[in-house]
Amino acid sequence: MFQVGELGDCFLLKFKKDDNESSVLIDCGSFRNSDKSEHRLQAIAGFIQEDLKGKSLDVVVGTHQHNDHLSGYVHAFDIFRQTGVDNVWLSWLDDPKDEQAGKIAAGQRKVTENLQKIVTGLAKNNNESHLLASERISDILGFYMAPDVEEPIPEKKEKRPPVVPQMGVDNLRKLGKTITYLSPGSVVDLPALPQNLVKVYVLGPPRNSNLLFDINPNKDETYDSKLAAVSNLAEGYLSAMKNFTGESVDSDEGNFPFDKKYDKKLTSKLFSKEYQAKTNAWRTIDDEWLDQAERLSLYLDTYTNNSSLVLAFELVESGKVLLFVGDAQTGNWLSWEDIKWDEKKVKAGFSLDYLLNNTVLYKVGHHCSHNATLKEYLDDKITHPHLVAMIPVDRTDPNITKDKGWKMPAVNLYNKLKEKAENRVLVMDIGYDADCDPDGEAKESWAKVPFKPVYNQQKFYIEYEVHGAPN
Ligand SMILES: [Zn+2]
Repeated sequence: MFQVGELGDCFLLKFKKDDNESSVLIDCGSFRNSDKSEHRLQAIAGFIQEDLKGKSLDVVVGTHQHNDHLSGYVHAFDIFRQTGVDNVWLSWLDDPKDEQAGKIAAGQRKVTENLQKIVTGLAKNNNESHLLASERISDILGFYMAPDVEEPIPEKKEKRPPVVPQMGVDNLRKLGKTITYLSPGSVVDLPALPQNLVKVYVLGPPRNSNLLFDINPNKDETYDSKLAAVSNLAEGYLSAMKNFTGESVDSDEGNFPFDKKYDKKLTSKLFSKEYQAKTNAWRTIDDEWLDQAERLSLYLDTYTNNSSLVLAFELVESGKVLLFVGDAQTGNWLSWEDIKWDEKKVKAGFSLDYLLNNTVLYKVGHHCSHNATLKEYLDDKITHPHLVAMIPVDRTDPNITKDKGWKMPAVNLYNKLKEKAENRVLVMDIGYDADCDPDGEAKESWAKVPFKPVYNQQKFYIEYEVHGAPN
């Protein structure tokens, strides 16, 4: 787990057996695209190149189209090209030949563009609440594009937001000798190793659009109607915003139930006495509409997180599993139960429970936010006595430290992970907290697993080794 220095994910996995070795890079990105972010990602890519001693990367994975997972494939593209990449794995959602994926991508792009217009429009209004709303939506859109993206949105399609994540995927396609788009239910042997040493099971993203799109999916609704609803809302919002700035008058206003002569000015006696009384501040509705845009952007965000490619690596000899979920949120997790596995590729009696019960390394989803690890699974199924959790979170990230910042790691989940993994929990920002210190408070707990983690601050990584044989 590399320390990308802000919110982000970058994991290098090396599988070794005798003289065989296979390297897998899962995501390489950070949130901001600043000079500092670029330099850090380039240093990490440089270290990976050095570490491989002239060998190319066997597999590089891009889990989902968010900046904090893919920006390194843009900022350190030349280094990765020099290193060489044999196989690139992306999800079916990135497959240009997949019709369903194409429709979803177009819808998503439209909503993103409208939200970007809303951010720009609100920022122009000289109004504190508008600026605040603009900033909060802009924070979420930061997952999709470079903050210095040109305005107005360029005509050229390839330059439109989401700029960086899209470029990341394009670059991955350029880097890989072979590109594979994975769908749930596939089982593949890990490249560069003899067959049947490490098997990779694809769990997500779901093909079922309901699950893909929502935190609390409703069986009766289809993806398309939801996307259409979000699009309509965003457009309605834009129109309301134009009204606010006085650029145009909405014809709907002609249908208001009261005649103009009944209008009351905000400065009228009634308003100054009742509506504007300090004690009534909580009842005012002037800024309520601003929240809607933030809700739309969160909706978009959930969708993209759920589009994460989820991979379980089975070390066949012992059956131990390394679970990498990207930023999958509840909808993605819920879909795993219904996966139809390729029967020729799995053992008789194989089930999802087998993978969860044998998970000895869990890459915690979405920087340990509260709805990116399915609680029931963590409670009852991810129960291996050797469980270790790795959380890619940087608690100094301004989006976390600021007032009403993002709750990462979510306290309850973090505590639950410590309980389940007996404090064998590693965090990206400082290696481990005091209560998880392998040489301190958690010494006994780490002694129960074959290897202790190594924290190399100079080279920006926290390393943990799993013993592939039983025990
Ligand atoms: Zn992320």
